Amino acid sequence: MAVVVMKFGGTSVADVDRIRNVARHVKREVDAGNQVAVVVSAMAGTTNQLVSWVREASVLHDAREYDAVVATGEQVTAGLLAIVLQSMGLQARSWQGWQIPIHTSAAHGSARISGIEGGALRERLAQGEVAVVTGFQGLEPDRNRVATLGRGGSDTSAVAIAVAIKADVCDIYTDVDGVYTTDPRIVSKAQRLPKISYEEMLEMASSGSKVLQTRSVELAMTNHVRLRVLSSFVAPDKMRAVSLDNLEDIGTIVCDEDEIMETHIVSGIAYAKDEAKITMLKVEDKPGIAARIFGPLADASINVDMIVQNVAADGRHTDMTFTVQANVLPRALEVLKAAKSDIGNFDISASADIAKISVIGIGMRSHAGVAAKMFKALSDKGINIIAISTSEIKISVLIDAAYAELAVRTLHSLYGLDAD
Ligand code: ASP
Ligand code: MG
Repeated sequence: MAVVVMKFGGTSVADVDRIRNVARHVKREVDAGNQVAVVVSAMAGTTNQLVSWVREASVLHDAREYDAVVATGEQVTAGLLAIVLQSMGLQARSWQGWQIPIHTSAAHGSARISGIEGGALRERLAQGEVAVVTGFQGLEPDRNRVATLGRGGSDTSAVAIAVAIKADVCDIYTDVDGVYTTDPRIVSKAQRLPKISYEEMLEMASSGSKVLQTRSVELAMTNHVRLRVLSSFVAPDKMRAVSLDNLEDIGTIVCDEDEIMETHIVSGIAYAKDEAKITMLKVEDKPGIAARIFGPLADASINVDMIVQNVAADGRHTDMTFTVQANVLPRALEVLKAAKSDIGNFDISASADIAKISVIGIGMRSHAGVAAKMFKALSDKGINIIAISTSEIKISVLIDAAYAELAVRTLHSLYGLDAD
């Protein structure tokens, strides 16, 4: 017997038929004797609709009321799934965040989970009842209000529930059957990875691969929760119920590095097209200048990703190039304009026609030459690199958006990731 968390995303519960399909996956686990907590997202498109209604009601809306509205999507799914499960003869009960409770911080709209009381849930599970838990939401205890965790937050709810009930595995059911070496829509020879480390998964997520919410991976890593990504669109009776010795048969397991026996130097190629670059020319080169540029951006909650500062040719002026999310580009430009009196004179240019391509792998720690090989391959294709950033297990380059797919394909085969 295993204790299992099964999380189903929006496309997996998009209508009542699909909720029935989800219920069959759950039934398979219960019939095998497993204890099951299910975490659900809102039905596909629902959260977007709720958010747009809130914005329509008022652009400057109250964050607590935003949460009161957008948290409802998950409540609908949880109730519907409990009903379907009951109609199949299973014991099932829905749980909203406040009923468990899942405690959160007061940062409405992007709250963090601060603690879960898992006792009541564990008791019900032990009695053979399926707990259907609303993802994405919790209770902010000081004001006693519902709080949501940020878009994609149901993944994080699932991991937190897995910690609270000491689950053996946290299965994230989605519309893809695992994590791939790169986007299969771009590279048809992309392969499913049987295992990937938490760290690589975090780099993948921050580099544009959107399978899991970043925070869920962080939480899983700190608590050593074994996460598995798998498809809900495989027929429920074509899958074997979870047992501790068959976890590796399907999907992708996100786990500790030392659980991965055979590692490749590079595990995956990620790309992001949602960044924009800003170049500030002829900025005065003196101590404190970077702080004067990036301080105001940080104060405006604008995340800066890659940063390149040139050496000043004349010893007095320098150029600074950096990237921000494309959707905050106008705001970033405004912030910089407003900070001009502090920063001093500069010329500025910006473009959203760029792509960030990242090569990721824990094997890089012990292998030299990965970057050199990458730069050579890109130059052979005539692709110009605008900026470079690295971490211990990742190399990212910024290039012209027009070359993004060529770059991904080139690097995918360069590092031996193409399927035969
Ligand atoms: N329904 C929420 C969203 O669309 C949370 C989630 O699905 O993870 O962002
Ligand atoms: Mg999601």
